Amino acid sequence: MYENSPDHHAILGGCEVEGLYFANGFSGHGVMHSPATGRALAEIILDGEASFLDVSSLHIDRFAKGELLHETAFI
Ligand SMILES: Cc1cc2nc3c(=O)[nH]c(=O)nc-3n(C[C@H](O)[C@H](O)[C@H](O)COP(=O)(O)OP(=O)(O)OC[C@H]3O[C@@H](n4cnc5c(N)ncnc54)[C@H](O)[C@@H]3O)c2cc1C
Repeated sequence: MYENSPDHHAILGGCEVEGLYFANGFSGHGVMHSPATGRALAEIILDGEASFLDVSSLHIDRFAKGELLHETAFI
């Protein structure tokens, strides 16, 4: 089964619950993202944010804010 998020992009990062982090909802392209996901999530857990790449647009808050991502080049 594909684990689709509402905008077909990953959910990556922490949330309001301390110590709870998301790296899911890859919507059919999670294998491709996995090396960057691992590095980004490690940096988020250790430093509070990913420094090698800005992944803030993948935060779960985007759904509550209505800031869904639009990408036409996914399967
Ligand atoms: C048919 C198909 C084709 C795909 N093709 C591609 C592709 O070509 N390229 C690409 O990049 N991506 C592809 N994907 C997507 C990719 O496989 C996923 O995005 C990726 O595997 C997600 O990795 P994950 O570690 O987040 O989750 P998963 O690989 O789903 O791993 C989650 C793990 O958690 C376990 N689990 C679940 N609930 C619990 C629980 N309560 N307690 C303990 N363990 C639990 C599950 O058993 C599973 O082992 C495809 C997906 C599908 C279905």
